[in-house]
Amino acid sequence: MNEKTWDKIHIRNLEVFGRHGVFPEENRLGQKFEVDADLYVPIREAGLNDDLTKSIHYGEVSHFIASFMTEHTFRLIEAAAEQMAEALLLRFPAMEKIRLEIRKPWAPIGLPLESVSVEIERGWHQAFVAVGSNLGERENYIQMGIEALKARKDCKVEQVSEIITTSPYGVTDQPDFLNGMIKMRTLLTPWELLKVLQETEQQAGRERSTHWGPRTLDLDIIFYDDQVIDARELQIPHPDMRNREFVLKPLAELAPYLRHPLFQKTVGQMLKELENADTAEK
Ligand code: ATP
Ligand code: CA
Ligand code: CA
Repeated sequence: MNEKTWDKIHIRNLEVFGRHGVFPEENRLGQKFEVDADLYVPIREAGLNDDLTKSIHYGEVSHFIASFMTEHTFRLIEAAAEQMAEALLLRFPAMEKIRLEIRKPWAPIGLPLESVSVEIERGWHQAFVAVGSNLGERENYIQMGIEALKARKDCKVEQVSEIITTSPYGVTDQPDFLNGMIKMRTLLTPWELLKVLQETEQQAGRERSTHWGPRTLDLDIIFYDDQVIDARELQIPHPDMRNREFVLKPLAELAPYLRHPLFQKTVGQMLKELENADTAEK
């Protein structure tokens, strides 16, 4: 995502009325809020063709913001910003990212100040999720995994690779696996996505017994944009991906030129190297 040049549409100082606040008087009487928004949307096409349908109508966005701020009541402007950002990203799909600032010029804190504000940046991220199963109705479990993601409004499954049959990895005395790769866009953070995947595994009756043992459904995050995460509970990119044909093959079908942010190699290159190493061994 980071190679993109980001075009923006700015909305500045939109005055709206709202009842957000922790004090009952704020909820009852309401007050003025000011909103700034930077809409990240590619506008070259609209510019070249003078065509509004290729851009986002800032009038519509402004009215959406005004209605949202008036119709909902939050205690915190943090909540107003978070939920409005999500609502805007869902309502205007051409918007890849948004920076939103909500100011409260009359914040009742008993001191003179110009304004208090929160500012957030939210947007769509690209993730690749590996899906595997080697227990029970394997096709159904894989399908369950895909459908669970499709059902969420904050996830958009864009492509699913061919599902391949592979021999087990690590612990080899267990049934064959079905493996595939899901390409998706998501508003979730990597940690939120991990939680969703683990809940889905649970719903598919996954029991965690032996590491690398048989399982109804396994959902691993392989890539999340070009982010690198090295925590105990979450490593991205998946640390063992370059040694796994069952990951690289379906991934190469969807994104052969995607480059690993640490190894600086494309998926296609990594797959080739692994295949060459395998034949050299034999
Ligand atoms: P492997 O991760 O080597 O493929 P596994 O999938 O069999 O092994 P699990 O038992 O499914 O391992 O998960 C063990 C832990 O791995 C999870 O609790 C999770 O916190 C952690 N984990 C770390 N990085 C990731 C990632 N990128 N995607 C999913 N889980 C991850
Ligand atoms: Ca796994
Ligand atoms: Ca896993």
